[in-house]
Amino acid sequence: MREAEAFTLLPDRQPAQDVRSAWIAIEDPVQAGFIAQALRATGWHVPRVVHGCTQLRELLRTERRLPHVLVTGLRFQDGDALRLIRELGMFPDAPAVFLASHQQRAVLKAAQALADVCGMRFAGVCEQPADATGVAARLANFLPAPGRARPATVLAPLDREQVCAIVAREGLFPWLQPKVRLDTMEVVGVEALMRGFDEAGRLVTPDRLIPVLTQHGLLDEATLRVARQTAEFVATCLGEGMAVSASVNVSMTSLARLEFCRQLEETVGHVGLDPSWITLEITESDAMSDVVQVVENAARIRMLGFNLAIDDFGTAYSSLAQLARLPFSELKIERAFVTGSQHDAGKRAIVAACTMLGNSLGLQVVAEGVETLEDLDCVRRLGCTHMQGYLVSRPIPVGRTLDWLRSLDELQVSPTS
Ligand code: C2E
Ligand code: CA
Repeated sequence: MREAEAFTLLPDRQPAQDVRSAWIAIEDPVQAGFIAQALRATGWHVPRVVHGCTQLRELLRTERRLPHVLVTGLRFQDGDALRLIRELGMFPDAPAVFLASHQQRAVLKAAQALADVCGMRFAGVCEQPADATGVAARLANFLPAPGRARPATVLAPLDREQVCAIVAREGLFPWLQPKVRLDTMEVVGVEALMRGFDEAGRLVTPDRLIPVLTQHGLLDEATLRVARQTAEFVATCLGEGMAVSASVNVSMTSLARLEFCRQLEETVGHVGLDPSWITLEITESDAMSDVVQVVENAARIRMLGFNLAIDDFGTAYSSLAQLARLPFSELKIERAFVTGSQHDAGKRAIVAACTMLGNSLGLQVVAEGVETLEDLDCVRRLGCTHMQGYLVSRPIPVGRTLDWLRSLDELQVSPTS
């Protein structure tokens, strides 16, 4: 399979149908005009150009539709854009931020970090705002965020009744994201990510499901349903000669219950699967909580034959001693450090340190959130052993995953450089 084919299997990577739109907030009207011109010349819709914070705030108050990107300077006569970035972050359809400013690099980085913690997408930076064609060139490959035009995904949290209805209707499914071995580019496994469907058939993502399931004591049951379907998937793959393992996310509270561990073992045994084909992922913050409880649970999981992964590694203040003490087989580096690592020395340093740690403890080191060939190249060079991310695929339903795996040659996704 050629590289282009492998990487166009992704459901969500087609460019959006609608025209990309940008607002420009640059103090100097001449510079702002040039940038607008350069963007329009490259197919962008630029409906608004403003020159100060007050004007931009007014637009936010009055405009019904926000753009895909806000190209903005950082300092204006009437204030700076930092507060505005925070305000923008509260909009569910907040635009991605592109900084066009000749502030020092450290300031630009700090502004980028602010956009990041406010949950906003960062579209790029140009340190020469006078270079309008440079701005347009950096935005040439920008794709509007998938889902932005679907406000249904920012609905209020579900209530108990709605969640119970989903569980009772068997409306919970694992969607699978491939895990790829970096030296051979083979798909060696999948991660199961929970998806629900409400009565109207709308997709419900884990951020709206897990907290309510947890709150109402339904998480164990939900996790077991995901585990059962995932185990069936692995058994089907093995039956067809495809050696594909799977990971399931579990909370430490579930694992603390002996009954849950027993049911998990039973669920996997029921489809005739050896537990060594399943890895249980627990988050770093969970793993670093109650030491005694965690060590006991981890030992039990391994005793039952499951593998154990430490997830979102790098997000909590982990105790290195505890990491060495626990019987992990895999360390998964939090995607926030992986995505864009090629262009960020700070992220690279964290990925390198986590990788070195994982490698020297004899663990598989999985880079999560590999979105571009640059990310892939970077994590490979830094010594990660496996990767997951939108570059290969977003999570997709079980049936489609099976079709996709069957279409691959020797399970290989791409002969990348
Ligand atoms: P996680 O375990 O860290 O899962 C990775 C999340 O990153 C997934 O979000 C996945 O869709 C997303 N992701 C994967 N590749 C990329 C990429 O290249 N770029 C970006 N931007 N994102 C990427 P998702 O599916 O929304 O899951 C969110 C979280 O919900 C998971 O984080 C996990 O902690 C939790 N979760 C999911 N399924 C289950 C489950 O069955 N049980 C439990 N207890 N938790 C689950
Ligand atoms: Ca995970």
